[in-house]
Amino acid sequence: AEQENFLSDLTGSFSSPCAENPTVAVMEAAYQHQGIPARYINCDVGKAQLEQAVAGAKAMGWRGFNCSIPNKQAIIEYIDELGTSAKVIGAVNCVIIRDGKLTGENTDGKGFVEALSEQIDIKGKTLALLGAGGAARAIAVESALAGAKEITIINRDKQKGQELVDLINDNTEAKATFTPWTPGLRIDPLPDILVNATSVGLDDADAIPDIETESLESSLFVADVIPNPPQTALLRKAADKGCRTLNGLNMLVNQGALNLTYWFDKEADKEPMRKVLQKLFTG
Ligand code: NDP
Repeated sequence: AEQENFLSDLTGSFSSPCAENPTVAVMEAAYQHQGIPARYINCDVGKAQLEQAVAGAKAMGWRGFNCSIPNKQAIIEYIDELGTSAKVIGAVNCVIIRDGKLTGENTDGKGFVEALSEQIDIKGKTLALLGAGGAARAIAVESALAGAKEITIINRDKQKGQELVDLINDNTEAKATFTPWTPGLRIDPLPDILVNATSVGLDDADAIPDIETESLESSLFVADVIPNPPQTALLRKAADKGCRTLNGLNMLVNQGALNLTYWFDKEADKEPMRKVLQKLFTG
């Protein structure tokens, strides 16, 4: 009889806090569905333990791991090679270990651009981005690298907004400008694509970014990074106006798919991942 193999391929996440991170459920569903003999372990690791955790992962032959708060920047110190966008963004959330060598990627923006590209060609398009935090930074950089022509950063904090604008202008072909976020802001002229990359709407189906929504037109494509609840107030309003929309759940599914491909060189079947998230988020 064939010998049983009791050795798993190991993957996981290093973050703190970590108990609420659903990626473990997403990845394990995918592994099971695709017959990959791997496990994903959520590890409560902060900055102080990061170096040892990385050494441990290497020693145990882990395939790779995700990084979240507070390790996305701190991990760079331990990485041998950075992906193009991860280098520009200055943050890594997916690490691949091959022959003891660590490669760092940022999948936040990649997951977004992939989901968007299924519905609209981003090349040559104009984008308006609400927010200038980690998600906005990743989305702006990845959209610019994917050929977006113009990116307007709209943010309350001017310094953070201008920093992101400079980052885009200094590192990509796209032309970025800053618009200060004043209450009830009317976005004029309307871009091709409007993205909410703020945390407004997270765990609150009624919260909506403070922009003038009456002037949104059906030619506009509206995307939201908020994965939960997926149908945010902004997306519902946009759909009322006849706009095509994309929710943050798709972006999250794509990040799981990218994990699997980076770690196992396999194309991911996204359906089991989507099902897990839908069940977790919509009950
Ligand atoms: P950050 O804390 O880095 O940034 C938050 C941003 O939101 C800042 O620009 C902040 O503006 C802005 N903001 C917060 N509250 C308001 C408000 N009331 N009005 C206007 N702007 C506001 O967070 P992240 O960028 O890391 O995350 C943002 C969201 O993206 C989270 O909700 C997260 O769930 C989601 N996300 C989704 C992913 C996905 O795969 N779907 C992946 C990663 C993140 P200011 O600078 O002025 O304070």
